[in-house]
Amino acid sequence: MNTESASDFDYDLFVLGAGSGGVRASRISSGYGARVAIAEEHRVGGTCVIRGCVPKKLLVYGAHFAEDLNDAAMFGWDIAARRFDWPVLRDNVMAEVGRLEGLYGETLSNHDVTLFKNRAVLTGPHSVRLDDGRTITAGKILLAPGARPALPDIPGVEHAITSNDVFHLESMPKRVVIAGGGYIANEFAGIFHQLGAHVTIVNRSDTILRGYDEQIVDRLVKTSLAKGIDFRFNASFDALERRDDGTVICKMNGCDDIEADQVLFAIGRLPNTEGLGLEELGVELTERGAVKVDEHYRSTVPSIFAVGDVTDRIQLTPVAIREGHAFADTQFGDKPCTVDYNCIPSAVFSHPPIGSVGMTEGEAKNKLGVIRTYTSDFRPMKYVLAGRNERALYKIVVDESSDKVVGVHMIGPDAPETLQAAAIAVKAGLTKADFDATIALHPTMAEELVLMR
Ligand code: NDP
Repeated sequence: MNTESASDFDYDLFVLGAGSGGVRASRISSGYGARVAIAEEHRVGGTCVIRGCVPKKLLVYGAHFAEDLNDAAMFGWDIAARRFDWPVLRDNVMAEVGRLEGLYGETLSNHDVTLFKNRAVLTGPHSVRLDDGRTITAGKILLAPGARPALPDIPGVEHAITSNDVFHLESMPKRVVIAGGGYIANEFAGIFHQLGAHVTIVNRSDTILRGYDEQIVDRLVKTSLAKGIDFRFNASFDALERRDDGTVICKMNGCDDIEADQVLFAIGRLPNTEGLGLEELGVELTERGAVKVDEHYRSTVPSIFAVGDVTDRIQLTPVAIREGHAFADTQFGDKPCTVDYNCIPSAVFSHPPIGSVGMTEGEAKNKLGVIRTYTSDFRPMKYVLAGRNERALYKIVVDESSDKVVGVHMIGPDAPETLQAAAIAVKAGLTKADFDATIALHPTMAEELVLMR
């Protein structure tokens, strides 16, 4: 075991935050023989399990029934009573979250990780204080406290909700205004819309999902508009006012004021570093409050490390997990390693969803010069029979000089499921000729990936 900790510390490793990164780092470090403790002030599982990816995806599934039930008629199904009951979905999702929280807790105890259900703040390079007054010492401290939704500094902001609150709403609102044009805005726009609300997305610029391929984003905007989701671009919020009947009036700059039953702010997430005592110890933070780390997740204080959203680099669960694992391997497993950040696939669980890996067309042109692109713009077979006028779009970006596929971008039913496999090919550096040499799996939507010429 490669640890500089001495037995005069209570633990070899103390982790702040039992989310994806923290739990992985804890159990792997413990597996290497380290004495590990972890503190969690909310619920074990962190953003992904408790108020992010998992409950959001379950809501996406729940919301999709709206279209599936419509489409079912053409497949011969007569579904007479179609009534959506939000509390049933909400409570079932929350029960599943509770089950997963229990499993995460079991994982920790099965790996002999001591769990403190407390807030912990740092009091020294090797010590933390829990909110019940106890002080604990450790050879190394890992910061994995995640991030929280950002809120603007405007009058009446207390009348808005964030993604954290959606999972607990008393009732399904009729009119929802969503601020932001990123992942969360587009995912919840789809959920609310499918569940019967009128949705307006408001973004400060004229671009949504910055960083995604423009053609794919354009298809999402067009499809969203066709479904009935409204957009306001180049607009910002001056204030929010609540009327006695509960209506929230959005006082706008750049567009007319908007009335809503709920206003959701999804304008990015900020690292949870406030009040942890970091700056006092000399842990350097970025302007946005993120912990600055080197390639081994070490902060500017040698015994203090950080992984996941608190470093504000790539705010994705699988990245935090890899970072937590790499930290444990390096610090306690005698296997120094770093995470390869190249070709990380990503998905937006909008309606329809997007999957993407590698360079967009724009990026590839800038970086590689001469490129080729291939697109397949098609109406999925299922939609043809259903009479649904919605098209999927797949796009492949190829480096002309090497024939390597450097990007795959897709929007359409189950696009993220297909994209994961395509990401292996892009990561492996396969060529367009390799794609072409693969025989199609028919009839699927995914076969388009090997049929583009
Ligand atoms: P994003 O970073 O995805 O998008 C933020 C949006 O808010 C952008 O449209 C941006 O506009 C706008 N914005 C940023 N700052 C301000 C501001 N001060 N005032 C008004 N608008 C602003 O953030 P999200 O909150 O949607 O998600 C946070 C992160 O969580 C994501 O980056 C992602 O890493 C992660 N996530 C991943 C998911 C997934 O993998 N499916 C799902 C949900 C979250 P503009 O671009 O014009 O600057």
